[in-house]
Amino acid sequence: MLLMLVGPGNLACSDKGGPGNAEWRVFAIEYGRSPRIGRSMLILGDKTKKKVPFAWEAWLVLGKNRKILVDTGFKDDELARHWDVRDYRTVPSGLAELGIKPGQITDVVLSHAHWDHIGNVLPYTHARVWMQKREFEWASKLVSKERPSRWGVRLVDIRALGVVRSRGLLHLVGKGAAVAHGIIFHDGGGHTKCVQWLEIRTGGPVGTVVLASDNAYVYENIKRLIPTGSTSKPDLDRLALKEMLKVASRPDLVIPGHDPGTFKHFPRVAKGIVEIR
Ligand SMILES: [Zn+2]
Repeated sequence: MLLMLVGPGNLACSDKGGPGNAEWRVFAIEYGRSPRIGRSMLILGDKTKKKVPFAWEAWLVLGKNRKILVDTGFKDDELARHWDVRDYRTVPSGLAELGIKPGQITDVVLSHAHWDHIGNVLPYTHARVWMQKREFEWASKLVSKERPSRWGVRLVDIRALGVVRSRGLLHLVGKGAAVAHGIIFHDGGGHTKCVQWLEIRTGGPVGTVVLASDNAYVYENIKRLIPTGSTSKPDLDRLALKEMLKVASRPDLVIPGHDPGTFKHFPRVAKGIVEIR
């Protein structure tokens, strides 16, 4: 049943308000949720001292011949405990809900080098892995044997990308690169050196979806044009937020990196998985 919902064979179906004969369909996968994260991390300048829920997410873009995973989540029980992640699962176990095996993923697109976005890249043995060259170089210089973790970048993840490179599958690209027809990288704000957001022209009635990743943590960043609390360049973030809203076909199609609201707002297709439409 789940296969019918998301399988390529179903791309031609045109249920009302659905994806029609779109070239791409976009899904959000939640792989865990932290119930209480400081709001000041999410919203720049927040002084409320409130704690709010925080979703851990990856995204999936399906086309006729491509299965594109956007960010990999992480696989680390200790980090999951540290962040009090409830209902923690790996992204491959989320994909299994859709009947997709890691070996079937054709492409992995990495938005930035933080552990919760690149932390489990190796299961996708056949996938081209796309990343900005500038981000990769920055992250690689940041960590070493002496300093295995710094500013959210981990040596273990950089080494895993080295393995991908040895497989001949690491695609380091420049500004504005297209991963596939209608799927385009854009420079984001100051979350990391060269964090990206992704424009996805679905080619169907949904129009253009924007995966903001951590250029916005939650919808409030987007609605109020307020950067996250973890940016080093808030002006760049404001520019990115405006640009993402300009590019998306509807404001709610700009999908933030960590907002549990995504999983209420869009139709559910499997456990912890919604279709962005
Ligand atoms: Zn993140």
